[in-house]
Amino acid sequence: IDKEEVFSALNLGVVAAKTYTEERTTEDGSKRYHILIRTTKPILTKQLKFDEKEEISIRGENSLLVAGGTPYASGSAYEHFITSPKKIAAVDPGFFTAVEKLWNDYHGLGEKGGKSFSKLIKSVTLKTDILSVIRQCVESEGKKLEDYTDNGDYCQCRCPLPHHTDLQPSFTIYKKTNSYYCFGCSKGGNVITFLKEFYGFTIGEAVNRLKETGAIKEENEERFKRKAHFEKGGRLYLEILTRDEQYKYAHLNDSDDVELIDGVDDILPVELPVTKEGELALIVKMPDENVASSTLLSPVKLLEKIKAHISKYCDLPELGIQLGTYYVLFTWFYTKVNTVGYLRFLADTGKGKSRMLTVVSDICFYPTSAGGSSSFSGMMRTQEYWHGTLVMDEADWTGDKESSIVKYLNAGFERDKYFILSNKNDPSKQEVFDPFSTKIIAMREPFRDNATEGRLLSISPHETTKASIPILLGKEYYEEAAELRNEIARFVLVHWNDVDGEKMLDFRGLGIEPRLQQLAKPLSIIFQMWNDGEEIFKRYILKRQKELKKELKADCIG
Ligand SMILES: [Zn+2]
Repeated sequence: IDKEEVFSALNLGVVAAKTYTEERTTEDGSKRYHILIRTTKPILTKQLKFDEKEEISIRGENSLLVAGGTPYASGSAYEHFITSPKKIAAVDPGFFTAVEKLWNDYHGLGEKGGKSFSKLIKSVTLKTDILSVIRQCVESEGKKLEDYTDNGDYCQCRCPLPHHTDLQPSFTIYKKTNSYYCFGCSKGGNVITFLKEFYGFTIGEAVNRLKETGAIKEENEERFKRKAHFEKGGRLYLEILTRDEQYKYAHLNDSDDVELIDGVDDILPVELPVTKEGELALIVKMPDENVASSTLLSPVKLLEKIKAHISKYCDLPELGIQLGTYYVLFTWFYTKVNTVGYLRFLADTGKGKSRMLTVVSDICFYPTSAGGSSSFSGMMRTQEYWHGTLVMDEADWTGDKESSIVKYLNAGFERDKYFILSNKNDPSKQEVFDPFSTKIIAMREPFRDNATEGRLLSISPHETTKASIPILLGKEYYEEAAELRNEIARFVLVHWNDVDGEKMLDFRGLGIEPRLQQLAKPLSIIFQMWNDGEEIFKRYILKRQKELKKELKADCIG
């Protein structure tokens, strides 16, 4: 924390009771503080900036955090106190939230604080018409934009900034990005930076001015679409969550590099829910910023790596591992097809099916967890935002819940089959849900509904005998899963157009029943890239046909 006034105003004594605080006096005589924190949670680097200046920075280093930059004449330096961690008590992860809240209050950033503030800035800069704001500013001073020309995507004029006497039109306004740059004085930025430069406003004052002049309407936010993933101009856009909790999209730019951007036109990333303690509820696993630097694996290498990852953490028969691997890959391409099947782990308690569910789903396309205890409508609502892979553990429901879920699952096999629910508070209102997506389910007993059962790729795990399977999933696992998720995402971004959703294999020659064909066909699109899978998959489908016949027989006898 590099400002004494902030430090004393924050009264960190309360939240920093368990930390070690070190006061320092810098070369210019002002006081700076280091706060050392030990935490058991994976560390996120947090930066709190005000007026574009970093005020608080908390950085992670070997589970020991050091906060506060010490500016020296040579520039800002961070020190790491990794030698005496014993002095410092472990601190509740809520510490970050507490500091952030105090800091937000100090700056009057409102109840929701920095997150909504940065969201506001983002939406303002994306959506405000910068040209008309600049024109208004200049006209409010009784002047005009001089030597103004409109060149389509951009406009030029003499620099209107007060510090620059521009004799030629060096100032450029870019309409697409709502930004400006002056080639004379090298100043550039968005509508907020312009107001700061022009009037000497703070960010808050700039936002207020935009509201007063009607440039931002309060309901502006509503005009955005929220999407976790989409295709535009033949390119795929995948939402990522950076390690400092920023949402962005990863996409391939024109030079085929992975680039991270905040939003596309009126589309912004979906945000995760926030818990009562103010922490992000990580109910959806997504790639992070390392997707841009991760290795681009060949199709064969990627397949092998996924198989090795699943085998390392799950004791499954070879066919189960193969099937799981192909299903993982399919989830990343499922939006290209109009029908899907689900993957199901079927076994009694104690056979490790929850482990398999976790390990396989963690590397799927936006896995959204819905534990046995989540409410049905809560699950549907979450899924409406993400349209990823719905992950259902302990799916052995009974009664009303079972019948609703079976209806939801059965509607979700095909695109554009909506699920309608009456609003409990107002039965005249109906809510519409789109259940179409890939799903992974773990359960003890098969579904009683044959239509559901017939659309499942089912794997029955056996009790684990392999000593090498770790009992608990630790840090190593989570790191490996995160890396693999990034590698798959990178691969999918690059190869998005190499999988044609129309080119499915035909399984009619196998003599399998129609519902199994409907299950098998869409998944076969990935054999365009991994053609070795075709034979394995055909073998599995024939085996599954026998299983289903047995189940049906048992049903009739019963
Ligand atoms: Zn200028």
